[in-house]
Amino acid sequence: MIEYETTTECRMTFLRRQLDDPAIEGPCARCDNCAGARFTPTVSGEGTEAARAALAKPGVVIQTRTLWPTGMAALGIELSGKIGGAAAAKPGRALGRLTDLGWGPRLRDLLADEVPDQPLPAPMLDGIVKVLAAWGWSERPVAVVAVGSRSRPYLVTDTAQRIAAIGRLPYLGALDPVDAGEHQAPRGNSAQRLLQVHDAFAIGAELAAAVAAAEGPVLLVDDRVDTGWTMTVAARLLRQAGATAVLPFALALQA
Ligand SMILES: [Zn+2]
Repeated sequence: MIEYETTTECRMTFLRRQLDDPAIEGPCARCDNCAGARFTPTVSGEGTEAARAALAKPGVVIQTRTLWPTGMAALGIELSGKIGGAAAAKPGRALGRLTDLGWGPRLRDLLADEVPDQPLPAPMLDGIVKVLAAWGWSERPVAVVAVGSRSRPYLVTDTAQRIAAIGRLPYLGALDPVDAGEHQAPRGNSAQRLLQVHDAFAIGAELAAAVAAAEGPVLLVDDRVDTGWTMTVAARLLRQAGATAVLPFALALQA
């Protein structure tokens, strides 16, 4: 193998000799030793910089929903068309994708079904700080709210409280999960998924008053975003309570 790698003769000739081929012809004219390398082994400085910048940029963008799914009226929910006005959330950020090489393995370990609810691991807080610093929001959030989680209330509220503490922002509280049932895995189409989470949260009077009094965007924290409908519904609640803008943040993006 090492001889094959380092030989300067025609590689086809080399291989045929190794295989005791009696009819070795002349050079093949196609291998890299005959025809020359097809790719330069060097990468332009520009390309290297672009790749490095993309890899080093902390966090991934959460694209928020812009349209309600079709067919909601048939399911008894009068939502259709554009998600606008007092329902819209701004694009958000996640620490990483579950499938990422960077944070993916640690996020999968933290959020796996059999892993118990726990506080935010310290290294992740460092990562979150970098994501928030690189966000480039047009208006800085003035308060933090947690999405009430049935499966990981400790993790989600701890994450929200730590972000609040480090950003010197008030933590206003968590939305209340309404349905006390089992956490349902996302399934079905968009309309069915929205139906599942549509009435899943309520905003308590105290939190509603605090959100109404906040004079700027509210950072809304959850553990993971999959279809995005939970974040959409939760952001809508905050907007309806009087939040001027909602910035979604999640630890993990599903896809
Ligand atoms: Zn050759």
